[in-house]
Amino acid sequence: MSDHYDLIVIGGGSGGMATARRAASYGKRVALIERGRLGGTCVNVGCVPKKVMWHAAAYAEASAHAHNYGFTHPSAEHDWARLVANRRTYIERLNGIYDRNLDKDDVELVVGEASFAGEREVTVGDRRLTGEHVLIATGGKASWPEIPGAALGTDSDGFFEWESRPDSVAIVGSGYIACELACMLNGLGTRVSLLLRKEHVLKGFDAMLGDTLIERMREAGIDVQMNRQSVALHEQEGGHIAVEFEDGDTVKGFDRLIWAIGRVPNTDTLALEQIGLELAGDGTVPVDEWQDTALPGVHALGDVTGGPELTPVAIAAGRRLSDRLFGGMPERKLDYSNIPTVVFTHPPIGTVGLSEADARAQFGDDSVKIYTSHYVALYHGVLDDKTPSDMKLVCVGDEEKVVGAHVIGDGADEMTQGFAVAVKMGATKKDFDDTVAIHPTSAEEFVTMT
Ligand SMILES: Cc1cc2nc3c(=O)[nH]c(=O)nc-3n(C[C@H](O)[C@H](O)[C@H](O)COP(=O)(O)OP(=O)(O)OC[C@H]3O[C@@H](n4cnc5c(N)ncnc54)[C@H](O)[C@@H]3O)c2cc1C
Repeated sequence: MSDHYDLIVIGGGSGGMATARRAASYGKRVALIERGRLGGTCVNVGCVPKKVMWHAAAYAEASAHAHNYGFTHPSAEHDWARLVANRRTYIERLNGIYDRNLDKDDVELVVGEASFAGEREVTVGDRRLTGEHVLIATGGKASWPEIPGAALGTDSDGFFEWESRPDSVAIVGSGYIACELACMLNGLGTRVSLLLRKEHVLKGFDAMLGDTLIERMREAGIDVQMNRQSVALHEQEGGHIAVEFEDGDTVKGFDRLIWAIGRVPNTDTLALEQIGLELAGDGTVPVDEWQDTALPGVHALGDVTGGPELTPVAIAAGRRLSDRLFGGMPERKLDYSNIPTVVFTHPPIGTVGLSEADARAQFGDDSVKIYTSHYVALYHGVLDDKTPSDMKLVCVGDEEKVVGAHVIGDGADEMTQGFAVAVKMGATKKDFDDTVAIHPTSAEEFVTMT
């Protein structure tokens, strides 16, 4: 059998799988090369196991509220090992489904690490594959600081390996992964210190979200420390970790430490120099709006190309690429504007469109009108815990087109998708106001703001 394909996909994660399967649906001959577990980051060490853990922490939170709803609750003993075992079983099932899907769609799975041997020529072990098109969908990995003792810590991949729940954890980072891990571990009973290099979390999001999240995390007992630039980790007696900071201060006694300081693209094993493909300054593979690199027939998408680093973005870009290359849709490409996302913190955050700061920078202060709502969701009505929620609509122009919708609070995770449709369609504040509210919900606040 010849080793020539219509499409060779390097990476069996969210983007690679979606591109390969869509191409195969057009009757194309496709090989997908994966060196690890099918499903990539999202299924194995990202969205999926993370969301399972989020549900566990949400359950712990609900149990703490249960007495207000009339339940006499025994103190909820949590079995971490059982949770992890159930999570792994679920993920193994997903790995199997991914494997069968490739089989069903007639995509050839090649197991191993791919590197370029020439333009549109890839080697995997002693196999050499050639393709009309090659897709780089190799994702990314956590970045680690180059400081003494860094290896005493772990990253989010390492977190998913934990067989027991530590009593105390330091999490270094301010992005969504750092915040999610902090809230989840805190919810399950670990003492968490979140060590921020500066004074904010969730850079790039609307400032209301990050500021409110810091308040909520502190109220929930997370020790949020600001202006903490780590310069070394030290091993203490009893296996504890001490973190030394730039200002000479040291905080001791952590059982574990997680680096969540950002992610870098997986390109180091691809031998891109063989094909003269130059990387951008931040190490990502540069692509244009069509997911084309500078080399004909070589494409890239997903995390390896930089943000927005989200599973549905990689999937959508991949399906559209295959539609364009093989499905007779020459204009098909992903519109990267108004991509919604949820941060699975406690409380969750939903966001779509421009932040207030970005809207002001783009349209000018005079064109921007902001609507906000600060409310206590009905769920909290009977609770001792009256944690409020916050919403913001960012509108521009005389017609008050809604260019941003942001929420932190109960239900944000499930309400944002629908509002993302409205924002994507160009809805105005009047359209929101003309929509009859669904009562009693938190989502109704979005259509009742004055
Ligand atoms: C902790 C965490 C939580 C996250 N939560 C969310 C979330 O809630 N929602 C969301 O939308 N996104 C989330 N993400 C991001 C999401 O996982 C990624 O955006 C998504 O997986 C990117 O898909 P991809 O196809 O670009 O890369 P990946 O899914 O990373 O797949 C790349 C694949 O390429 C393989 N590979 C790399 N190099 C080679 C090579 N040389 N040869 C063969 N194979 C290779 C890798 O083994 C990997 O399987 C999360 C990420 C993390 C780390």
